[in-house]
Amino acid sequence: MSDFKDRVEDYLSSSTHLSKRHVHPRLLKMFEMGGIKAVFNRAEGQYLWDTEGNRFLDLLAGGGVFFMGRNHPKINGALRDVLEMDLPNLCVVNASALGGVLAGKLLELAGGDFGKVVFANSGSESNEVAVRFARVATGRRRFLYLEGAFHGRSFGVASMCGYESMREGMEPLMPTCTPLKPNDIRQLRRELKMGDVAAVFMEPVQGMTGIALDPNYMREAETLCEQYGSLLVMDEVQTGLGRCGSWFASTGAGVRPHILTSSKALSGGQVPVGAVLIKDEVYERIYSKFGTGLVYFSTFAENNLAMASALTALEVLEELDAPAESARKGEIFREGLEAIKQKYDVIDRIEGMGLMITVYFKDSATPALMAQQKIMGVVDSSAFAAAVHTQLFVRSHIIAQLPGPGKNALKILPPVIVTEDDIRYFLSAFEDILADLYQANTGPVAALAGGLVKDTVSRVSEAIPAVGQLLGRGAPAK
Ligand code: PLP
Repeated sequence: MSDFKDRVEDYLSSSTHLSKRHVHPRLLKMFEMGGIKAVFNRAEGQYLWDTEGNRFLDLLAGGGVFFMGRNHPKINGALRDVLEMDLPNLCVVNASALGGVLAGKLLELAGGDFGKVVFANSGSESNEVAVRFARVATGRRRFLYLEGAFHGRSFGVASMCGYESMREGMEPLMPTCTPLKPNDIRQLRRELKMGDVAAVFMEPVQGMTGIALDPNYMREAETLCEQYGSLLVMDEVQTGLGRCGSWFASTGAGVRPHILTSSKALSGGQVPVGAVLIKDEVYERIYSKFGTGLVYFSTFAENNLAMASALTALEVLEELDAPAESARKGEIFREGLEAIKQKYDVIDRIEGMGLMITVYFKDSATPALMAQQKIMGVVDSSAFAAAVHTQLFVRSHIIAQLPGPGKNALKILPPVIVTEDDIRYFLSAFEDILADLYQANTGPVAALAGGLVKDTVSRVSEAIPAVGQLLGRGAPAK
């Protein structure tokens, strides 16, 4: 019998300071500076509890992985069962005990012309597999990607990251990757016509920008890729498995990519996993010669715990009718946000699809708020969003996210089990926070002054002494 349970209390109490020292010193400091200091010790469904007993509404779901909620009893039960059964695992010389069943289920849900599945351990790795397959299948080296894209942090796919700041210090990355404007079909045609493109990578809804691709653009991309011998790769690591209102946002829009990658929610949140769905015809091109070596293999990719967690996650999502529920609840969020937008001119627009929602902010025309936004914008273009994000966490115990670098926007990736009461709670908290941010004494500068932007404010106060006076703190001591 394991005595792990007996030690968990000790682990939980020592973990934060050890993590601060050995694992995430920088990241944790940044969050703490933003007033985000909670230490969580329990999680269930759409909620987390901290050590002081406060309940937090989790509208980020671990970056989308807990789409069915945290610690789902069915998923945890399946994991316990697998361990108790002493099943064969990672035997290498034969098929995985559970991988075939999971592959069959994924192919059924995805539709399209997929016939094969290759497993991996993460979203980045799944996309990396797609790079390898595209190179081998086409014999070409050039890749196209979209501005604003994010496909992961490993080297191949980091080369297709639409943010310079995220590539900084990493070069040289994979050569010959060309960025394109999302939804610009003429530009895509021009590049594909050159005949040297191995693959075009796209997210149907971009995780970092919230921008949803036009279905016509995606369908035309499929036709053009066929015409010019390139592969269309749909990265559905974040959009897949119901989040955007269909099992996969691309196939749901009638697109038949050559390769589709999935991860995040597929894991059930508990065991990392990635899956690469491939058209039979592409797979045949890769393994046309009997002697072709393994184009991809990873030691842990088909481990029993990952396969069991994923299989059960799919079962749970089917029971929840995840695509329809995402579409319905996404609409409730959107309607509420649009109504708030009518009252607060600081909201620019609402992007996304289903339960993937990004609210963009702009400068308000209200003098008290505009003045503060201008001041903060000098230091950080996303400062207003940072103020909303911090206030949601500190005041309302709601977990949201700031999306891509430099975006003055707030993103939520709610789990599909979020209730209508939860949605109402979020909308009302969000509106209250905006209302306060319009006031001079509770505006974004003050909202952030206790935290992340204590640092920002110090730097602004240094540059613009009037801000220091506004906050009654003067320029910081050197
Ligand atoms: N692709 C997309 C669209 C993502 O959103 C992410 C992660 O956020 C990745 C790839 C990378 O996945 P991972 O962090 O599992 O490597």
